[in-house]
Formats: sequence, structure tokens, C-alpha cells
Amino acid sequence: MDNNYPNRPNGSPQRPPRNDSPQRPRKRISKELARKRQIIALCVISLIVLIIVIVIAKACSKDKDDSSSSNSKVNTTVTTIVTNTSGPEMTAPLTTTTVVTTFNPDSSGFKLDKYTILLDIGQTDLALVQEYPDGSSEEDERWSSSDDKIATVDAYGHITGVSAGECYITLQSAADPEQEVQIKVKVADPNGSIEQTSEKKEDTTESPQQLAEAPAPPIHDDIKGLTYKEGILLANKTYSMPEDFNPGLEPICEEYFKKLTEDAKKEGLDIYLGSGYRSYKDQVLVYNSYVETDGKEKADTYSARPGYSEHQTGLVIDVNTINDAFGETKEAAWLAEHAHEYGFIIRYPKGKENITGYKYEPWHIRYVGSKVATDIYERGISLEEYLNVDSKYPD
Ligand SMILES: [Zn+2]
Repeated sequence: MDNNYPNRPNGSPQRPPRNDSPQRPRKRISKELARKRQIIALCVISLIVLIIVIVIAKACSKDKDDSSSSNSKVNTTVTTIVTNTSGPEMTAPLTTTTVVTTFNPDSSGFKLDKYTILLDIGQTDLALVQEYPDGSSEEDERWSSSDDKIATVDAYGHITGVSAGECYITLQSAADPEQEVQIKVKVADPNGSIEQTSEKKEDTTESPQQLAEAPAPPIHDDIKGLTYKEGILLANKTYSMPEDFNPGLEPICEEYFKKLTEDAKKEGLDIYLGSGYRSYKDQVLVYNSYVETDGKEKADTYSARPGYSEHQTGLVIDVNTINDAFGETKEAAWLAEHAHEYGFIIRYPKGKENITGYKYEPWHIRYVGSKVATDIYERGISLEEYLNVDSKYPD
């Protein structure tokens, strides 16, 4: 084979004849051939490039799939919360789809001591800010809740459970609104289901018309020995009432309690007056009997000493059966959500025992007018916190 080379050297004497007349069409053929070859080569290259592109694209899309599942950047995902309701009306599980922003704490200038908070209804907790974004400080904290019906947050970041469910509390910097961090809040349901939340959602459509209707309670400025703060008669372990203060059940309290029971009835709920006004003398009998049964120390956790009972204000009603089992009823759940619309507050909330001086009493409601009641309800605080007062016996 090597021997062929010397026979076909470039510019060999054999070549010139090819340049003569018969060679013209041959030259054209070779040009066409070259062009054809070029085209074929191009096609092959294109095909190879196409295959490479497809392979790379496939590899890339696989990468994307892999990375999206472990994506650590801020993104929006759809979370489906399935709540299993055990209510008689609900035959199928209630499915709620909410769009929430999953938050990566590492991408925020804020550093908190925790990013998840579990609460009971009425309980308050807070996440401590350990680091602020550059240029922001404590004064720039702006707190908000994704759902005030589930958990509220005040200007200092105190988060209070309102009703069973989940929501997000956001801390944003007023100095740099791009800087924010979220806390996931889960409020436990005392009944072990989220029945209340679904009921509440149905109820709220009817309630706004009642808001701001119930007026402030009366002020007895003719009686010596009563203490008022912001128009609210104080009656707790620090503030007592004289023996001769004997208003009876205040008509405004009675009127709005009646509206409350009527509206509850429309929802198929039975709320009734269990115990209303109690005079000083009545309280002497009640308190002494408890002391006899349980001893003074224990009696003080649930029964007021004479003169210190809120029932003497004429603005208090104990509804239905006065025992812890009431807290498990639908009536109690409805009352917790709607009492404020009629001017009442759940006076001794869960988790506030050390502030109010009394254990949780879901049945004991106090009339303060709907303006104050709504404020207290929305902030998830006790009356003591609202008025910034103590509740401790002098001795
Ligand atoms: Zn009571």
C-alpha cells in the first residue's frame, strides 16, 4: 500500500492532462462532491451536537428535580393541612390548602432562639431575638400574625394561642423590610381535634355586625372603696369591694348575656346562666364552705374571699355547669370565640393563672363592653395585663 504514494505525488506529471478540456466536468463533479461531503459532515456534526444538547438538558433537569426537594433558599410551597374532624356534621375529613412561604432562617439577618412554638389556647410565649440585621435594632421590630384567629402577637413579640390550628408569626425590620424571619406557631386543641377552627370559620361570617355594640359598663362613683381603672371596676385578689356594695346583676350585663345566649341558640348551642350576682354575704357562705372542704390554700385558687369576688361587681356570669368538663364542650369553644362580641371576656384564661390569681375557668365571663373585650380577645391577654395591675392577697 505504501508503494502507491510515490505514484500519486502532488503536481506529478500525471496531473497536467487533467487540466485539459475533458477535465472541466470532472472538476465540477469534485466540487459538488466536496459540497456534498461538507453537507454530510455538517449533518453529522449537527446530529452529534443535538445529541449532546439533549443529553445535557436531561442531566440538567434531573439536577433540578433533585435540588428542588432539598432547596434551601426562600421559596413558596403549597402546604396541605388535613384536619380530621370528629364532629357529627362532618362526614369527610376537611382539607384546607394554604399557600405559605417556607422560610430559611439562614437567609435572614435576624437570628432567633427558636423558629417553632407550640401553644395551648390562652398560653403566651415568645421567641428571643439574638441577632438583628445590619442597621436594624430592637426598635425596628415589626411583628405580625398570618392568622389572628389562631395566634396573636403584640409589639414585643409575645405570641398567644387563640384557637387550635397553625399559623406563622413574621418579624420584619422597619429599617429594612426585606429583612424578615418567620416562626411557625401551632396551637393545640384541648379536645384533640381542630373542630373548633372549622366551626369558627363558619361563624365569623355572621359576627361582625355585633362588634362594637355592647357599651361600657356603668361606674358607681357614689360608692366609697371601689377602684376603677380605665372605666373598669377592679375586683381581684388585690382590689376588694366594700360589704355594702350591692348592685345586683347589672342590667347591661343581663341584656348582653341574653343576646349572647340567643345567638348561641341559633348555632344549636345551649348557653345559660349558672351563677350571676353574688353579694358579700353570699360569698362568705360560699368561700367558707370551700375552705371547710379543701382548706384555705386550695380554696384560694378557685374561690374568692368575701369582698374580693368578681361576682359582687354584678358584671359576672358563670355559664352552664361550673366544672372543668365544660371546657371540653362546643359551648365553651363558641363562648371563647364570641363572648367579646357581646362585651364579655373569659376572665381567667388558661396559662394566666399566675397573673389573674385564679385557675383557668372557661365558664366565668366578665362584662367589660365590646371595645375593651375585643381588644383583650385580640391581644390574647388577661384583664390584669390589660390594666397593668396585680392580683395578690395582701397577706
Ligand atoms: Zn365565677
